Amino acid sequence: MSVAIYPGSFDPITYGHLDIVERAARVFDRVVLAVLQNPRKAALFGEAERVEVIGRAIAEELPADVAGRVSIVRFDGLTVDAARRHGAEFVVRGLRAVSDFETELQMAHFNQKLAPEIDTVFFMTALEHGYLSSSLVKEIARFGGDVSAMVPPGVAARLRASDERGPRL
Ligand code: ADP
Repeated sequence: MSVAIYPGSFDPITYGHLDIVERAARVFDRVVLAVLQNPRKAALFGEAERVEVIGRAIAEELPADVAGRVSIVRFDGLTVDAARRHGAEFVVRGLRAVSDFETELQMAHFNQKLAPEIDTVFFMTALEHGYLSSSLVKEIARFGGDVSAMVPPGVAARLRASDERGPRL
């Protein structure tokens, strides 16, 4: 059975991330979406909230046969350690533009050095999600803009509710 881990901050999850999950699930038997507690980024949503929102988004937005093969875990530390813990031989990352490639290539090489048995696989997002990023979504939401084309309804609702909360450090 092929297992892939898809690590990220997912703060919040967007239609771009969901697109990558679906593409990965067409190739691998199981996809482990791993939610990173990233100490370098101030998260808008706490880890538990992100996991809950992602679970709902996957159940509601993806076909049942795909959603049934995706699990959600939390992790901190190295991606390769999380991959080994979950029996994943592949790390999935999404590419939007050439600008993503440089850092992703460096990270893939770094992970290859640490864990030669684990390969990074890149999926290209659908063209319509190419401009989308979590930080852009947060910025638009902060100024009261409409993010309904960018994130699932549950995420949009939380963004509206979190308006007064400010970032978590
Ligand atoms: P990180 O903090 O690790 O960058 P993100 O949640 O921002 O976490 O992104 C996780 C992964 O999803 C990365 O590989 C990123 O390139 C990819 N990604 C983010 N947004 C999109 C999108 N709109 N389309 C495709 N891939 C995306």
